[in-house]
Amino acid sequence: MLNSLEQNVQYRRSVMRVLLLLTMVGGVIFSILNIYRGLWSLAAVESVFGLFAFFLWHRIMQTMHLQRWVTIYLLPLFSAMVYAMYVPNSAGSIFVWILTIPVISYLLMGRKQGFWVSLFFIISGITVYHFRFIEGDIAINIANSLNIIISVCVITSLAHVYEVNREKNEERLLDLAGTDKLTGLGNRMKLAETFTLYAEYAKRHKSPLAVVLFDLDFFKKINDQHGHHVGDAGLRYIANFIQARVRKTDLLSRFGGEEFALLIAGSSEVNCFKQVDSIRQELADTHFTHDDITLTITVSAGMAMYGKDGDNLEALLLKADQRLYQAKDNGRNCVVDSNNQQAIEATLQTQ
Ligand code: GH3
Ligand code: MG
Ligand code: MG
Repeated sequence: MLNSLEQNVQYRRSVMRVLLLLTMVGGVIFSILNIYRGLWSLAAVESVFGLFAFFLWHRIMQTMHLQRWVTIYLLPLFSAMVYAMYVPNSAGSIFVWILTIPVISYLLMGRKQGFWVSLFFIISGITVYHFRFIEGDIAINIANSLNIIISVCVITSLAHVYEVNREKNEERLLDLAGTDKLTGLGNRMKLAETFTLYAEYAKRHKSPLAVVLFDLDFFKKINDQHGHHVGDAGLRYIANFIQARVRKTDLLSRFGGEEFALLIAGSSEVNCFKQVDSIRQELADTHFTHDDITLTITVSAGMAMYGKDGDNLEALLLKADQRLYQAKDNGRNCVVDSNNQQAIEATLQTQ
């Protein structure tokens, strides 16, 4: 699944391709026209941009530095637009290009950078317009200036509102993609993303990171005896129960059907064990009621430590799962970590 940054990059690559294509076509047409009109400097600028667009055409689809190329391309492009407006003999209608500046900037640079780049080049364009065209009847001058200023404000506001909403929707979609529908917890994707961040931090700061797998005990029985809807309510109850007892920086996710994974960052193995075991104990002492049915749900858990038990999520989940199985073998409603693993193994062998 793509993360937010990658999604933005894909979307901006497509916008950039369209802009490059139009620049290539426009570069050829306008440089021929301007050569014909004797505007050599303008024709040269337009040809250079056509060639630059041609050079970027393939590169833009593969580059790892899309935003850098966008900036390298857009700043000179907008400067060239303003220059073209400034050249005395360029067509008067050239000022309509000002309207494209906010749309292009917002689409390719996002809300913040797009706003500042638009502001700078729009003000430059309008200033140049005044130098070139303000003369004679004052009322007509005011009307002309207002036409440009108001239409630019309309387009900029629309581009701004569009980009703000697009960013929000993108964030929401990514959130949904990482969320389990039934419990509202993160899912496996969220777990993998968060683990990558936390593991990086744990490695750099040599701080502990625990992966805990919870599995509900005899959960099939609850479904079989009381129906799937009670089972679903039970899953939501457990999710809320554990979530309310961990820190905001710990990540609880729904790992599978009736299994939950918990990442605990910054607590020693002993403290993690104590915390997980106290959650288990509290849950076993609490009743869950749904549709007049009162039940006690217990969990078994296996715990693994980053570094000690593995340095990637797969290895840690495997270890936590093996310990979870030991917890089940040991009679359920218990937690197994590396410290009590051997004692439990010994007990099981003597049975
Ligand atoms: P154990 O103590 O060995 O874990 O026993 P168990 O019955 O919990 O384990 P088992 O793996 O045999 O059963 C898991 C059950 O979880 C099977 C399935 O009915 C139930 N389950 C999985 N996902 C959901 C779900 O989304 N909703 C409901 N209601 N039940 C689910
Ligand atoms: Mg299970
Ligand atoms: Mg189970």
